[in-house]
Amino acid sequence: MYNFNSGPAVLPAEVLQQASEAVLNFNNIGLSVLEIGHRTDWFVNVLEESKSLVKELMHLDESYEVLYLHGGATTQFMQVPLNLLDEDETAAYCDNGIWGSKAIKEAKLFGNVHIACSSKDQNHTYIPKELSVPQHAKYLHYTTNNTVEGTQWHFIPEANVPLVADMSSDIFSCEFPFSKFSLIYAGAQKNAGAAGVTIVVIKKGILGKVKRTIPTILDYRNHIDAKSLLNTPPVFAIFVSLLTLRWIKKEGGLKEMEKRTHQRADLFYETLDSLSVLEGKADRQDRSLMNATFLAKTPELEKLFLEECKQNGMVGVKGHRSVGGLRVSMYNAMPLSSVQALCDLMKTFDEKYS
Ligand SMILES: *Cc1c(COP(=O)(O)O)cnc(C)c1O
Repeated sequence: MYNFNSGPAVLPAEVLQQASEAVLNFNNIGLSVLEIGHRTDWFVNVLEESKSLVKELMHLDESYEVLYLHGGATTQFMQVPLNLLDEDETAAYCDNGIWGSKAIKEAKLFGNVHIACSSKDQNHTYIPKELSVPQHAKYLHYTTNNTVEGTQWHFIPEANVPLVADMSSDIFSCEFPFSKFSLIYAGAQKNAGAAGVTIVVIKKGILGKVKRTIPTILDYRNHIDAKSLLNTPPVFAIFVSLLTLRWIKKEGGLKEMEKRTHQRADLFYETLDSLSVLEGKADRQDRSLMNATFLAKTPELEKLFLEECKQNGMVGVKGHRSVGGLRVSMYNAMPLSSVQALCDLMKTFDEKYS
């Protein structure tokens, strides 16, 4: 199958191989990875290697802490303001897509939200270039890549306040100045492993400044003190994330991922722009290199296109249920040959129906 799913998504074949071997016999110890205790040296080594690989790939120093947490990126929508924003304070948020809007909704439960910019007027099909960030804002939050709408920030927003980013769908896809950020979070199931765990990277100095009492399990400081072992972590999901990070490093790190990201996206968009029955949805300059959204000229053509994809073993081509249309996700583990196969199908489809 050609897997264009948006998440959970394609993983490297060797990661799947190694993960399945470990389900039967982890590191030749005679136990399954599903059976080992989370406080054993076996698992503590998995966790520590994973966290140090995240730091290494991101070029982060000792002022940062890496956490592996439960609850998906969606829990971070709430956990970020709970830990960083007091009731009488303001945080700035960019309103550029469905995920960002959900983050805004949660932040409003904890303090004031100032909308720094919005692309709502055009159904989030572009990235605004002008932002207004109050000087007193506790932080600026944005979604680096809008998975559903197919747009991506190709620049870092200017702000004199700490930056917080949801990088769920483009983390590790290219070299990036991660150290400009105070908090980064990403559900692992798009570009960094399997579902069930969220990577959270925190500059420790931003914590401990709110007045409210934070429930134990939601206070980042407790997770830092417990080294991500406050309670039983999702052992298997963290193990798959470790295998994925090892694979990224072995293939050449983020430099190589960036090269491949551009190769895939260039091939896809060049093909798309040459066709007459399919067309892109997002503004060209803001197009996502990970999730490409597009439309067929008519609803009938969309149906026919999805049918042809299905017949050719291509899955995950339907757009998100909230916006419709078509979408293909091209994460790190997607081989260029899969994008080539899709592009060949698109060209044939276009010749047949244009
Ligand atoms: C998928 C996604 C989410 C939601 O992740 P969950 O792990 O399902 O909570 C949030 N933000 C972005 C940018 C995403 O792509």
